[in-house]
Amino acid sequence: MATTASMIIRDANIRTQNPGQPRAEAVAFDGDTIIAVGSLDSVLEYRGPATEVVDAAGRTLTPGLIDGHIHPLMGAAATRGVDFGGITTMSEFLKRLRTEADRILREDPQAWLRGWNLDYGVFAGRTIAAEEIEDAVHRLPTAVFFFDMHTMLATSAALAQAGVTGAVHFDDVSQIVLDDDGRPTGEVREATAYDCVLTAAPVLTRADGIGISRRVLAQLNSSGITGGCVMDGDADAIDFLEEMAETGSGLPVRLVTALRHGPERDDDGIAEFISLRDRNGRHWRGGVIKMFLDGVIDTGTGWLSEPDTKGEGLLPFWPDPALYTKTVERYAAAGFQIATHAIGDRAISAAIDAYVAAGAISKSGAPHRIEHLEYLSDEDLPRLAAAGITASMQPLHLQWRKADGSDSWASRLGPERTKRAWRIRDVMRSGAPLALGSDWPVAQLDARIGMAWARLRRSPGDRDGFVFEPDQRLTPQEALDGSTTWSAAAQGDGGHLGKIEVGFKADVALWAEDPVEVDADDLVDVPVHLTVVGGEPVHRHDDV
Ligand SMILES: [Zn+2]
Repeated sequence: MATTASMIIRDANIRTQNPGQPRAEAVAFDGDTIIAVGSLDSVLEYRGPATEVVDAAGRTLTPGLIDGHIHPLMGAAATRGVDFGGITTMSEFLKRLRTEADRILREDPQAWLRGWNLDYGVFAGRTIAAEEIEDAVHRLPTAVFFFDMHTMLATSAALAQAGVTGAVHFDDVSQIVLDDDGRPTGEVREATAYDCVLTAAPVLTRADGIGISRRVLAQLNSSGITGGCVMDGDADAIDFLEEMAETGSGLPVRLVTALRHGPERDDDGIAEFISLRDRNGRHWRGGVIKMFLDGVIDTGTGWLSEPDTKGEGLLPFWPDPALYTKTVERYAAAGFQIATHAIGDRAISAAIDAYVAAGAISKSGAPHRIEHLEYLSDEDLPRLAAAGITASMQPLHLQWRKADGSDSWASRLGPERTKRAWRIRDVMRSGAPLALGSDWPVAQLDARIGMAWARLRRSPGDRDGFVFEPDQRLTPQEALDGSTTWSAAAQGDGGHLGKIEVGFKADVALWAEDPVEVDADDLVDVPVHLTVVGGEPVHRHDDV
C-alpha cells in the first residue's frame, strides 16, 4: 500500500452524507484529506506504524458541521458585558442593570456598561427609550444590544460621549431615533448608527479580541462545528483573521469570510474590497460580499410590500435601491459571491431581482445567497428555485416569538402574514438550495440547538410547548443535511466539504449518540466526543 494514514477512526457508525456510499465502518485520513472510507478491513489496510487509530466503539461519526451564517469575530467584540438572555420583563432588566452599574462604580467608574442579547419583549407595551434605565445605571454611559444586533439602547451619557445630541444623517436606513422634541430617545437602529455611538466606547485590545475569538471558536468545535461562513467583515477583519490563522494553534474552524458593503461605500471602497477578494490563508478565505436590503421586522426596519401594523416597514435600507442592484452587478462581475440580508418580502423580492439581473450563479460556481428570508411571499418562492439562489435560514430565530402572537415580530406582521413565517420546508420543497446557520451572537452558536429548532420549531425540551408552523419542520436527516452538505454547497465548497468521502477534507464529528436517531429534545444534550478539522483533533473527550 503506497499511502499510510495519519489517523484512522474505526468501529464507527459513519453517516457519510455521500449518497453513493451512505454508511461505513471506518475512515482514514492522510493529513488533512480523507483517503479511505468503507469496511473496517478495507480501511485498516492504510494503517502504518505511525497511524493513530481511534476506536469509536460504535459511536456515530458525521461530517463536521458548517454554520451557514455566523459572526464569530464581530460577535466576540460585540458580546461584551452582561448577557441579558432569558430576561423578559422590565423589572428583571432594571435589577440586572443596577447590579452591573454598582459593580462598575466600585471597580472602574470610567468604564461603559455594556450588554447584549436583550429581548424586545422587555419593552412590550412601552416605547424603547433609555429614560427607562437611566436611574438603574446611575447615568453611566451604557450600550445594550438587542438580541438581533440590529438595535442598541444607548443612554444619554453614551450618546453625549459620541457627540450625538440630535438628528444624524446616515447613508442607509440606520437611525438615531428622536422624540417629538428632536432629542435622541436612546433607541439606535442598525449598524451604521450604533457603530457611530460605539466609536466613543472603550475598545478591546487586539490581544484580548483574539483571545475572546479563540474561545468562541473552541465552543463551536465542542458542538461538532468545523466550518462557517462569516457574514460581516472588512479589511481589518481580514488582517485579524490572518493573524489568528498564523499565531498560536491557528484556526480550529474553517472560515469563509464576507466583506460588508453599505450604501456609503464609494468607488475607492469598492476597489479596496475587490483587491481583498483573493486574500486567504490556512483554513480561511474571502470572496463573499455581504449587503443589507433591510433591517428587522421587530423594529419596523424590515422592508415589506405592505406596511406593518404600526404603519412602518416601507423604507428601503438603501435610499436608492437601484444602486443596490448596480452594486450586486459590479461585485458579481468582479468574481464575488453575494450574500444579501433580506427579511421582509419586499427585500427578498428585490434581492432576487438583482441576482437574476447579475446572473444568479457567481463566477466561482457558488449561487448567490439570501440571508434569513423570514417572511417570504408566495410569488417569490418559486423564483428562488428557478434561479437556483440559496436560502440561508435560521429556524432557531423562532425562539423570540410567542404562541399568542404578541411578540414584536408577529404583532408587526399580523396573523395573516405570520402564517408565512420562516417557510423553510416550503423553500426545500420548491427545490431552492438551503443552508442552516445560527447567526451567532443573534442566537446560540451550539449547532445542536439549531438542528433541534429546525426539527421542532419550538423550544427543545419543552415537549408541551407551542409549535410554530408545524408544516415547516425538518426531518432529522434534513436538519443534518442543512448543517453539512447543504451549507458546504452554499459557500461553494460542496466538492470538498460536508461529506465523508475520499478526496474530501478530513473534517468530522464523533457523537456520543446518533444525531439522526436521537429525539430532537435530547439532541442538545448529546455530547460531541471528538471534532477533527483538517485531520487534527480540535476538541476531544477523555475517552476517545
Ligand atoms: Zn447575521
